Amino acid sequence: MISTITAHTTLDLSNLRTAMLSPFYGKDLDLPSTRGAKWEFTLHSLKTNTHLTFKSSRPKGWASNGPVLISVMNGGTDEWRFIGSVSPSTGTFKVSPKVGEYEAGGRVDKAIRTMMWITNLPSTCTPPDLAIYGSCSCSRCGRKLTNPDSINAIYGPECRRQMNTSSPAGKAD
Ligand SMILES: [Zn+2]
Repeated sequence: MISTITAHTTLDLSNLRTAMLSPFYGKDLDLPSTRGAKWEFTLHSLKTNTHLTFKSSRPKGWASNGPVLISVMNGGTDEWRFIGSVSPSTGTFKVSPKVGEYEAGGRVDKAIRTMMWITNLPSTCTPPDLAIYGSCSCSRCGRKLTNPDSINAIYGPECRRQMNTSSPAGKAD
């Protein structure tokens, strides 16, 4: 059996919460930020082998004790749909009325349910069939990686093809 090298270790729920609430750009945590900040993460269900990529952000002018805005990647790597917010005081996810209409069982619906689920779980109870990855990029071209296979291989699909690597990490499926 070939063992694969995992370059990006998965986070636990407690790490995820800390990182999710961290986007802030400024010298003083109590003062409004001097520019916007964001952090992206991918949640991979090992049970269904599906994944969703989220962005947590604070716009310019917000203080670090304010909520973070949560969006889900919806389509291309830079197409986002705003779904709600997480408040640092409660730690829970609140759906935004601005989310508008969305299809039941579709990506936005799944993203909302997932955020509610993970923010309501105790921090010490990371589900064993959930892999949590922080933002990462291809080691060759720097392009953003959101697919769990690419994240684990640390290269995007194009670079893996071009390098024609014999590395066992390039799991094809
Ligand atoms: Zn690449």
